[in-house]
Parts: sequence; structure tokens; C-alpha cells
Amino acid sequence: MNTQNSRKELEQSQLKRLGEMLQAVLPANEFYRKKFSANKFSDIASKELLKSLPFTTKSELVENQALYPPFGTDLTFPRERYIRIHQTSGTTGKPMYWLDTEKSWEWWADCWKVIFDAAGVRPDDRVFFAFSFGPFIGFWAGWEGARKLGAMAVSGGGQSTPQRLKTIIDYGATVLVCTPTYALHMASEARKAGKDLAKESAIKITIHAGEPGASIPSTKRMIEESWGAKCYDHAGATEVGAFGFQCQSQSAAIHVNESEFIAEVLDPNVGAPVGEGEQGELVITNLGRIGSPVIRYRTGDLVQPSYQPCPCGRPFLLLQGGVLGRVDDMVIVRGVNVFPSAIENVMREFPEIEEFRVEVFEKESMKEIRIVLEPCSDQSSTGVLAEQVSQHMRERIGLRPQVELVAPGTLPRFELKAKRFFKL
Ligand SMILES: [Zn+2]
Repeated sequence: MNTQNSRKELEQSQLKRLGEMLQAVLPANEFYRKKFSANKFSDIASKELLKSLPFTTKSELVENQALYPPFGTDLTFPRERYIRIHQTSGTTGKPMYWLDTEKSWEWWADCWKVIFDAAGVRPDDRVFFAFSFGPFIGFWAGWEGARKLGAMAVSGGGQSTPQRLKTIIDYGATVLVCTPTYALHMASEARKAGKDLAKESAIKITIHAGEPGASIPSTKRMIEESWGAKCYDHAGATEVGAFGFQCQSQSAAIHVNESEFIAEVLDPNVGAPVGEGEQGELVITNLGRIGSPVIRYRTGDLVQPSYQPCPCGRPFLLLQGGVLGRVDDMVIVRGVNVFPSAIENVMREFPEIEEFRVEVFEKESMKEIRIVLEPCSDQSSTGVLAEQVSQHMRERIGLRPQVELVAPGTLPRFELKAKRFFKL
């Protein structure tokens, strides 16, 4: 089957699923019934119908939960049908709650099975989750996905970093699931304790989410070298599901699982689709979470679509460079468009840098960037490092930022989503 044919079949199957979902959702789900009350629906879902539907935004969902506490009205079934509750990480304001039915929770797990399969995880693998297993949905669904695959899931909940490292080595874990930042943090702690994880751990595959890191070339390289493993990116969100995964043919792009999600990439200002190779906002409709769906949801994620065939044979859309960042994170400094991920790519070229923080501030009504660096404890010539970083930034991004060094241990560490980018 060539990619064009299979894309056509894929689209037909997506529209069929969309039609079935709308039939279930429209009469019973108050949020979408109200929202789509002015829309006309025919028996057959079409591309035109999808395009006619208004977008769903995060602020709308947050407002809905505030108006109808605690769970809002994006619920298709009576409350007793729901078996799981999670919440967003709350990195931007009040957390949002999200309920799943038995069926939609199974769907989440199946989406994670796709992520594991694509990365080459097999039933005889032991998957370690360096995750707190608190109310944030994070890797809870990954935990279920490992079970679906038949692999052994090992929880790192309630453990400190040294305990997690010991468990990984003692249990012979072969797959690591965590944020990219935390993978690097564990590697750095191991190094300080005189351990070489590439040699002493059996980890051969790492799977990451929560931040763009695993698709940032130098971050990815650093993780792979520290763990002696192959690093895979994945993308998802509490309100959307696990929509993106990396196959073994790609090292700097992720697929959207279009069997379960309809993806549109739109110009955030005008709402029209962007062309191949252009950047736009990812808008997602999930097809298997009937109990609490999102339809044409503006993720706020900036992506660059490609429909080129992938050597893996999957007809799915590719997002070049993974999720590039948040649409509203881009800053223009002296005429240069700067993304946090581009700065991270430069920082991770320096193994001497343990942690960093980027501050954007205004000086005489011009935007400026300051980079605060925390070197590894064994770093002696810090002045040289600051100068090198500043020079690399100029070569790569075209800006020469202020670089400030702080003592080891000064900057915060992150287990979940890292926050390193600040607009002051
Ligand atoms: Zn592929």
C-alpha cells in the first residue's frame, strides 16, 4: 500500500470515528451540546463538517470547571461511569480535573502501547517509571500501557533519586520512562556517586515526555550517552491523550497517532492550515475518549508538519523536531525569533553545565536575554565557560546574551515539567 492510498483510508476511518463520536457526544454532553448548538450536522461526518466546528480552548475548559465545579460539563455519561480522575500539572495556573471511563482509560493505555511498540519495547522488557504517581496524569497511562504490552512495570513512586538508581540497577530495568530533564538529573547524580549508568544499568531504551527535550538534538545526545541507550520522544496532554510517538526510523521527528487523533496544524493568528515545512499550532480532536472528549482543541503547541513517507511505513503525519515549544513562548529579541528549545539545544552542548535558567527582560524598551548557568561542581574555569556559551549563542541563534554563573546547587531541579524560561 503506498502512503497516499493509506492516508486516504486513514482519513476515511477518522471521519467515520468522528461521526460516531459526535452521535454519542452531542445529545448527552452539555459542554459540546451548547458549544455546537449553532452548527448543522448531517448523518455523515466530512472534512467540511470538522472545519465548521468552533475550536475548543484551554481557557474555555478552565472557565467551564470554575462555573460547574469541580469537574465541569464536558462529560458524556453519568458521573458513576467514570473510574479515574487526574489533574493537569498546574504549571500554568489552577489545575484542571479530567475524568475517564473504563473505556477511555483503556483507550489511553492502548495509545501508550503504540508508543512502546514504536520504540521497540517488547514483553520481556522491564519498564521503570521515574514518576511520583501523584494526581498528575503524567505516566499513569504509560504504566497501564506497559501492562497492555505484557512488559513488567516497575514503579519509582515515592522514591528518592538514589533509591531509583538502585532499583533500576537491582531490578535490571531495560526501559526508562521519565522527563528528559530528570533522565539527565539521575545521570548526573549517578556520576557524582561514581556510577557509570551506561555500563552499570541495563537500560537500553528511554522514553520521554513533558518537555520537548528528547527531540532537541544535543539534549537527546546527552541522554543517550549518559545512559548508553536510545532515546525516544513522545507527546501528550492530560486533556488530549498520548497523541505523539517516535518510531525507530526517526531521530528528530515524532508521528501523530492519527488512528486515534485528528491533527490540524493551523496558523495561530488566522486559523488557516499551514503548509508542509511551515510552523503552526497543533489542533487536536481525540477519537477514543467519548466520555470527556476534546474536539478541535488548540493545544498551544508549536509544530512543523511533514507528510513525507516515513521508512517505518506508517502513513502518519510527522512533526519535525517534535513539539517545538509553546506558541506563546516565542520571543523576538532584536529582530530574532527565539524559542526556549533552541536555547536548550545550545546549553546541552556543554556537559559542564548542570542546570540553567533563561530570563527575558526589557531594557530601554528592548527585549534582552540573560542566561543563568549552574556549572557542575568540578568545573574550575567558569569565566571561560561563560564566554564560550555566549559565543555559541551568537553563532547558533544570532544573539549574544548576558551570561551569569551561580554556585552548584543554586537552581531548582525538576522531576516533572521543567520551568527554565522566564519572561520578567
Ligand atoms: Zn516512522
